[in-house]
Amino acid sequence: MSRLVTVLGSTGSIGQSTLDVIARHSSYEIFALTANNDVTTLTTQCRSFNPRYAVIANSALQKELEVNLKGSKTIVLAGEEGLEWVASHTEADIVMAAIVGAAGLRSTLAAVNAGKKILLANKESLVMAGEYFMRSVRESGAQLLPIDSEHNAIFQCLPVSQGHVVGVSRDDVRRVILTASGGPFLDTPLGQFGDITPDQACRHPRWKMGRKISVDSATLMNKGLEYIEACLLFNLDPAQLQVLVHPQSILHSMVEYTDGSVIAQLANPDMRIPIACGLAWPQRIESGVRSLDLASEAPLEFRQPDLERFPCLQLGIDAAKAGGTAPAILNAANETAVAGFLEGRLRFNKIHCVIQQVISKIPCEGVTSLDIIQDVDQRARKLANDLIVKTNI
Ligand code: NAD
Ligand code: MG
Repeated sequence: MSRLVTVLGSTGSIGQSTLDVIARHSSYEIFALTANNDVTTLTTQCRSFNPRYAVIANSALQKELEVNLKGSKTIVLAGEEGLEWVASHTEADIVMAAIVGAAGLRSTLAAVNAGKKILLANKESLVMAGEYFMRSVRESGAQLLPIDSEHNAIFQCLPVSQGHVVGVSRDDVRRVILTASGGPFLDTPLGQFGDITPDQACRHPRWKMGRKISVDSATLMNKGLEYIEACLLFNLDPAQLQVLVHPQSILHSMVEYTDGSVIAQLANPDMRIPIACGLAWPQRIESGVRSLDLASEAPLEFRQPDLERFPCLQLGIDAAKAGGTAPAILNAANETAVAGFLEGRLRFNKIHCVIQQVISKIPCEGVTSLDIIQDVDQRARKLANDLIVKTNI
C-alpha cells in the first residue's frame, strides 16, 4: 500500500526536490501540498499529483486556487489552520516540513504532536523551539528524520540509527564534524562585503536553494543554525561539535568515535539524496541522482572556518552553548536582518551587527512553553527592525 505524504512548502526548492523523488516511486502518494503565495506552481503541482488537499497560506489567494482546481478532486484550504490540518491529519503517514523560517513552526509541531514520520528540512522550527521540540517528539512518539544534508549525513554515520534520532547513545562518539561549503564569499576580500548584492549572495557555488537559506549560507549563519540543530538532534554537548570548511560539498559531515575511527557520508550535492534517504529509511530507494565520480571531482579540500570573517557562525555557536531562548532570539533577529538585506534595507556586512545587538539586548531565559518562544520571537523581530531602520546602510 502506498504511503501518503504531506509536503509543507511544496513550491520551494526542497518541496520541488521532494516531488521529484516521489514521482519516481508508486509506493508514495501525495496527501497534501502547500504554498505561501505561489498559486501558479501549486496549481501545476496539484494537476500532476492529484492531492486530497491543497493549502494556500495566504488566505486572500484561496478563491484563485479554488477556481484553478475546479473539477479536480483536490479540496482547497487556507491559512495556518489549513497547514496544521494537513500536517496532523490521521491519513497522512509522512510529513515533509519544508516551509522556510519561523513560519513553519506551528505546522511542523502539529505533525510532531500527531506522532508523524517527519522529514525535517525546516531547521528554524527546531532551532527556535529547541528542547521543547525534542520533548514533544519523545512524548508523541514521532519519528524525526533530518533532511539538512549535514544532519542526514551524521544520522547515516551513527551506529544505531533505527529511524529515531532521539536518545542515541553518545558514549562512543568523540566528535561530530559538521562540514560547511563556506558559501560564495569564502575568498572574497573582506573590504568588499559591504557591496555584496542580494543576487550575488544567492548565487551559491554548489547548491541551488531558496533565497533565505542562500543568504544564511553566505554569512555562515546557516552553519550557526545547523550547529544548534545538530546539538539538539543528536543530543551532543556543543564542545563535541566542530565546523570544518569543505568548499566542494562532497563530504557532508563525519562522526569520530572514541577509538579514532571517522565515518563520513559522501554524495553529490543534491538534496534529493537526503530526501530519498528520509522517505525510505531504513530502506533505500532511487533518488534520481547520478553516481559520485570522485576521480573527476576537484581535489577535496578542508580548512578551518574564519570566525572573524564570518561572525554569524560564532553567534550560532554561542547561542547553542547558552541554550534556553538564545537560539530563538538569534533566529528571529537573523530572519529579520536577512529580509532587510534581501529588500535592500541593510548591507550584507551589517547583518551580524543587527543580530549581535538584538542578542545583547534581550535576556536569555529558560523555555518552559511555546508562548515564551513566540513572545521572544516577536520581541527580537521588532528590535531587529528598529535597528535596521537606525543602521546606516
Ligand atoms: P524556499 O524559499 O525555496 O521555499 C519555501 C517554501 O515555504 C515555499 O513553498 C513557500 O511557499 C513556503 N512558505 C514561505 N513562507 C511561508 C509562510 N509564511 N507560510 C507558509 N508557507 C510559507 O526555501 P527552501 O530552500 O526550499 O528551504 C526550505 C527549508 O528547508 C528551510 O528551512 C531551509 O533552511 C531548509 N533547507 C533547505 C535546503 C535547500 O537545499 N534548499 C537545504 C537544507 C535545508
Ligand atoms: Mg545544510
